[in-house]
Amino acid sequence: MNKNTTLGTDLESFIDEELIWSEIEKATDPEPSLVRETIAKAKERKGLSPFEAAVLLKNTDKELDNEIFEAAIEAKKGIYGNRLVLFAPLYISNECVNQCAYCGFNATNNDLQRRTLSAEEIHKEVEVLEDLGHKRLLLVYGEHPKYDADWIAQSVRDVYSVTSRKSGEIRRVNINCAPLDVEGFRKLHEVGIGTYQCFHETYHQETYKKYHLAGRKTDYNWRLYAMHRAMEAGIDDVGMGALFGLFDPVFEVMGLLYHAQQLEIDHGVGPHTISFPRIEPAQNSELAFNPPYLSSDHDFKKIVAVLRLAVPHTGLILTTRENADFRKELLEVGVSQLSAGSRTYPGAYSDPEFDRPDVQQFCVGDNRSLDETIRSIVGEHGYVPSWCTACYRLGRTGEHFMELAKTGFIQKFCLPNGLLTFKEYLEDYASEETKKVGEELIRNEIANYSDPDRRKLLTDRLVRMEKGERDLYI
Ligand code: SF4
Repeated sequence: MNKNTTLGTDLESFIDEELIWSEIEKATDPEPSLVRETIAKAKERKGLSPFEAAVLLKNTDKELDNEIFEAAIEAKKGIYGNRLVLFAPLYISNECVNQCAYCGFNATNNDLQRRTLSAEEIHKEVEVLEDLGHKRLLLVYGEHPKYDADWIAQSVRDVYSVTSRKSGEIRRVNINCAPLDVEGFRKLHEVGIGTYQCFHETYHQETYKKYHLAGRKTDYNWRLYAMHRAMEAGIDDVGMGALFGLFDPVFEVMGLLYHAQQLEIDHGVGPHTISFPRIEPAQNSELAFNPPYLSSDHDFKKIVAVLRLAVPHTGLILTTRENADFRKELLEVGVSQLSAGSRTYPGAYSDPEFDRPDVQQFCVGDNRSLDETIRSIVGEHGYVPSWCTACYRLGRTGEHFMELAKTGFIQKFCLPNGLLTFKEYLEDYASEETKKVGEELIRNEIANYSDPDRRKLLTDRLVRMEKGERDLYI
């Protein structure tokens, strides 16, 4: 394999389609004994191979499906406890030169109102988000020659520069933009981005070609090696994903897992997160209204559960594409990061209207506010919302973070740090109703601490927060 990921020429895909098809064939109608063996292996929480993931996905026995869900629920609880990281997307632009058949920002969509936020407009949007209580943002950009690495880096600086009343500041900016070269990624690294996120959409070459009709994104391998280049540039945390609905979902899950494996082989660590958006209706996209490989809710939930078992220490991200009720089910089986109160077009947070097909990328399925979402996940499910950014700020990223994650670190550090950020939210931004359920959750969590030293460490900090200190972590 050519590993010259800088130039993007003569690259060879490491997605071996022949191998994937032969493994899917072998995994079809699996013997119950093989499924049980695979579930038993998954319970060791050391991950699964792409073939083993296919075995679970191809199982059709309902009872065994329930065992898969149970194993995923156990893995989620054992590794992540009841903590859930929250973030919001911030669309910086909807101008795009590509023609992706499923996307409302597609260059041929002449009915879309195009907009790129100015520095002042970014400032205004960030202030609104900070006033809601957000601390972690994902900046989203279309692909356009004017959004080069310098321009994107400046928009990141603009976001970090905004501080507003109370504890308003953005502590981690993640990026979802078109793949850059190594030099470009270096510029993003220098301005302190957290995760670089880029979805491959579909790992199946022919399908990729069919739905990506113009622009740089037509180059499958340039996109496939984006994570490699980002890592070469020093960005430790990368987020991959596939758009479910374009092609066979089992193929896509295996594509994601082979992609993750290749990063581990070449850079010593896999992705920090994986996303699995399902296609949603988008303006003037026939494909988005009628996706050829639509998964049922049951099958989609199984995809999430199997990913949780296959890459147990990788964050799984769920967006507001899914509706509120189904999001609750998906949280149980494996999701560890959730977007909340999302708006999917530039300028949306300063716009009193929402759900605007004339400007947005796709329709949002969960329109609850951040406060409502929090009240539901806390009150109904007992999750601890977290905006923690301690690891990223202390340099515990990439391989270093993964090593820690495997040793129960998430329970020991991430959970108390999550509680501290939640306390900050309750003090500064929560409605009375949310504050009530939130304070009760914190009391219960403290009562559950068996180690008196850690309990003291945490309660001391909580008291300091009540007295006005902010941004405390362990
Ligand atoms: S998916 Fe991305 S690259 Fe494709 S048209 Fe939409 S914004 Fe542009």
